[in-house]
Amino acid sequence: MTTSRTVTLPSGAVVPALGQGSWHMGDDPDRRAEEIDALRHGIDLGLTLIDTAEMYGGGRAEELVGEAVRGRRDDVFLVSKVLPSHADARGTVDSCHASLRRLGTDRLDLYLLHWRGPVPLEETVEALEGLVARGTIGAWGVSNLDVDDLADLPAAAHPDTDQILYNLTRRGPEYDLIPRCRELAVPVMAYSPVEQGRLLGHPALAEVAETHGATPAQVALAWVLRHEDVIAIPKAGSRAHVEENAAARSLRLSADDLAALDRAFPPPERKVPLEVL
Ligand code: NDP
Repeated sequence: MTTSRTVTLPSGAVVPALGQGSWHMGDDPDRRAEEIDALRHGIDLGLTLIDTAEMYGGGRAEELVGEAVRGRRDDVFLVSKVLPSHADARGTVDSCHASLRRLGTDRLDLYLLHWRGPVPLEETVEALEGLVARGTIGAWGVSNLDVDDLADLPAAAHPDTDQILYNLTRRGPEYDLIPRCRELAVPVMAYSPVEQGRLLGHPALAEVAETHGATPAQVALAWVLRHEDVIAIPKAGSRAHVEENAAARSLRLSADDLAALDRAFPPPERKVPLEVL
């Protein structure tokens, strides 16, 4: 039996440290059924946090996720995001309701500002807190906010997560953003944890993987998940990839593995502005 680590969010929700992404799902009609099956299989394996956004395919990914969770809404923790251009007082609420319709549900568990845009953060946060007060969303959070952006949030604001680009080739957040999130008790959610697949051919990953009888994707995920308080949301469009990713939860990297990975992917020695995909 796999031990599945969980993360407790500031709002009190307990979520699995390994979830599922959905960007580009639904883009190819020929893959749609397989993608829905993959998400459902992931839920069966405990990857019950599902991340989506109004932006993905202009709502197509949310519709697909809605289909995948139909009949088992209560088994999943649904995360979606409002586009910065919609994130004013009225637009945030309208976007949220449009997402709910596409997802076929009456509530989101977590709703994020996708990235910082033209609307003052205070206005967006007030709108998000209004949605929490009305029970439309369980909690709110942010995405792609660097240390300076977090400092610009209203003083009493406490996001449930900062969803950021973090993987072996994007270690910048280790310098200051992840430590700052820790100080603020804001769990980090790592997106593109396998760098959209580009990371997987790296020889250093293959070497570590071989010593464990594992795969490069599993090493990349176990590396992100080595932090107690970090969530990873790989997107996998097939049962085989979902199973492979789910098994990464039981892979423990040794000090030697971590040192080898540090040599191939050096940790940051200075501030690196937060990268975005
Ligand atoms: P990922 O790093 O999750 O990579 C996804 C790619 O990796 C897909 O091509 C997938 O292929 C492949 N893959 C997944 N598992 C395996 C495996 N075991 N072996 C080989 N290949 C594999 O990139 P994403 O950009 O999709 O990031 C994950 C999620 O994070 C997104 O889907 C989205 O929900 C979120 N995100 C949020 C952003 C934000 O601004 N807040 C920005 C970017 C992403 P296949 O589909 O064939 O399985």
